[in-house]
Amino acid sequence: MKTLNTLNRKSLYKVSPERAKKFLTKVFDHLYKRAVKLTQVNYCGVSCGKCVAQRVGKLFPGQSGIPDFGSSVKNRCCNGCKYLTKDGCSVEALYCRIWTCGAAHQYMFSKGMLDIAHKLEEIKRIGDIYSLMTYRCSKEETIKSALSHIDFSKKFS
Ligand code: SF4
Ligand code: SF4
Repeated sequence: MKTLNTLNRKSLYKVSPERAKKFLTKVFDHLYKRAVKLTQVNYCGVSCGKCVAQRVGKLFPGQSGIPDFGSSVKNRCCNGCKYLTKDGCSVEALYCRIWTCGAAHQYMFSKGMLDIAHKLEEIKRIGDIYSLMTYRCSKEETIKSALSHIDFSKKFS
């Protein structure tokens, strides 16, 4: 994150919205890259096309446990989402990439994957600082939402 620290969350309102957007996009891309890399570790315990929540019957209401379409992107708790296609998720949804249900948490702990749990938590922690943790949102929607949390008018007060 060193290169991203030229601006921090508290000083974002002091720059132009365009510069803030550029910065937030950089943070987003950095976190997204890390999140996708982590999805390649099987922390949802996928086996025979089913994640651990499906196998133990612990999907939350509204989660159908859709099949794995062969995408490396975690896509088993996306039921009803407008961005879900037959090939999996069609957008760069940062929070979705790192969100994990209770069954996935239990699986990680039972398999000693504490480092993965910590890495997911770290991405969330940084994402929260920049208001980038919006569920079921595209990159564009996420950055727009993050910008809406910055009061640029303070710059002139
Ligand atoms: S977060 Fe839970 S429901 Fe979603 S894919 Fe992982 S184990 Fe399955
Ligand atoms: S945006 Fe989230 S819930 Fe929707 S398809 Fe993508 S990963 Fe699934």
